[in-house]
Amino acid sequence: MYSSVPDIKQALEGHDISHVLLDMDGTLLDRYFDDYFWEHLVPEKYADLHNISFGRAKEELLAKYRSQEETLNWTDIEYWSCQLGIDILALKEQIRHLIEVHPHVEAFLKLMRERKKKIYIATNAHDKVLALKMKKTELGRYLTGTITSIEMGYPKEHQEFWRRAEKRLQFRREHTLFVDDTAAVLASARRYGIRYLVFKAKGNSKMPLKKNDDFATIVDFNELI
Ligand SMILES: [Mg+2]
Repeated sequence: MYSSVPDIKQALEGHDISHVLLDMDGTLLDRYFDDYFWEHLVPEKYADLHNISFGRAKEELLAKYRSQEETLNWTDIEYWSCQLGIDILALKEQIRHLIEVHPHVEAFLKLMRERKKKIYIATNAHDKVLALKMKKTELGRYLTGTITSIEMGYPKEHQEFWRRAEKRLQFRREHTLFVDDTAAVLASARRYGIRYLVFKAKGNSKMPLKKNDDFATIVDFNELI
């Protein structure tokens, strides 16, 4: 039996959960920033650069993105800067005003801190993008730390990510909560034995709500408070 949202809320009140691991993009932060960036801004630049239409650029880019899914390259802005001939970090910095924290995330983090949980961001994002987003949102003040897939050597979809994360963060699987907006990543954490799993729906606030039947699902962090 998998834990429901009320079970998890209750487990967070006591000592059943000691470690709270949180994905960044789409979970704590609105994925609108990233979707807009990769699906709109990058194709625009790419179209200009190659003198092709926006539609053609987008088609070519989506194929390139897809070919690197679930690999470390996918998260590596140096790789994409080199592949696409576009300075990805500089371009992200240009639209940093679009970086937004999801509602009630700060209240949740604050409460977890009061309850003396160990709180970590566990992200596939590149270290420089993580740094940019922490600077803009100031969420770092609530965290015990952060781990990235590049540091771990594997993306979260791989079991090796979790083995290394466990070693680094010293969590116990049965006392750990992990929240993510990607079902494949949650499935990987479940395979590894992480007991408490939550799917964050509405990762991109401007997209329609997508249901997930395999995991306890929240739309808003106030459901865990
Ligand atoms: Mg995410």
